[in-house]
Amino acid sequence: MPEAIYLVVVFIIGACIGSFLNVCIYRLPEHLSVVTPGSRCPSCSAPVRSFDNIPIISYFILGGRCRSCKATFSVRYAMVELLVALLGAALYWRFAFAPEFFAYAAFTVALATVAFIDLDHKIIPNVISLPGIVVGFGIACLFGFVLPAGGAEALYPSVIDAAIGVVLGGGFLFLISFGYYVLTGREGLGFGDVKLLAMIGAFVGWKGVLFTIFTGSVAGAVIGVFIMTFRGKGAKYAVPFGPFLSMGALLYIFFGRSIISWYLSLIMIGPN
Ligand SMILES: [Zn+2]
Repeated sequence: MPEAIYLVVVFIIGACIGSFLNVCIYRLPEHLSVVTPGSRCPSCSAPVRSFDNIPIISYFILGGRCRSCKATFSVRYAMVELLVALLGAALYWRFAFAPEFFAYAAFTVALATVAFIDLDHKIIPNVISLPGIVVGFGIACLFGFVLPAGGAEALYPSVIDAAIGVVLGGGFLFLISFGYYVLTGREGLGFGDVKLLAMIGAFVGWKGVLFTIFTGSVAGAVIGVFIMTFRGKGAKYAVPFGPFLSMGALLYIFFGRSIISWYLSLIMIGPN
């Protein structure tokens, strides 16, 4: 049963990519190289040796501590590795090794990086979102002009759909962002979110963007109310929007079509 073997291989590669994402999440906002130097302990700067750098596993072998100085590492490093590994396995489950797998693997990696950087620093680096728009649209062109037309499972947006997705995603949030700024004089939604949503539009098209805006806003509002309840309204706590948009976009890749057709059947058939 080679299927199971592929699934395990994808999981392991995902964990290794997750390990690299940890480096990107930590270093990109500081404008540091993500290649050199190799991983170091944030406390004592001791280089992390290769046998201590096994994704997911090393954290538990070392009990979450640096081998040299015993400073504790956040469990989040291992969780990011596990998350990316699971997302990789889920993509394989959804697409096997169809071209969409590779397109959405790139997209997923970008979304995971953006979500955690936004969580930590409340910024979405242009170095991911702007090339992301080009790559997402470029893949649509590849599918549209070079690769043979996909079958019923083909999910990737057409060239026109991707273009509308970019304009709709970027334009929609830009108007909200701009309107909020004009009305209140404060920047509520960052323009980083605008570029992120344009990137999402390039990868999922106009339906995907609307789905992402809707699910991201609902999830963001629920969590925002939850946080304000427990931290007190006085606590000045802007909830970053990037992680919710990323979650919405991922939800669309896996379940978007089923959810939308379920919803449409609900309105068509109606409550009569
Ligand atoms: Zn150390």
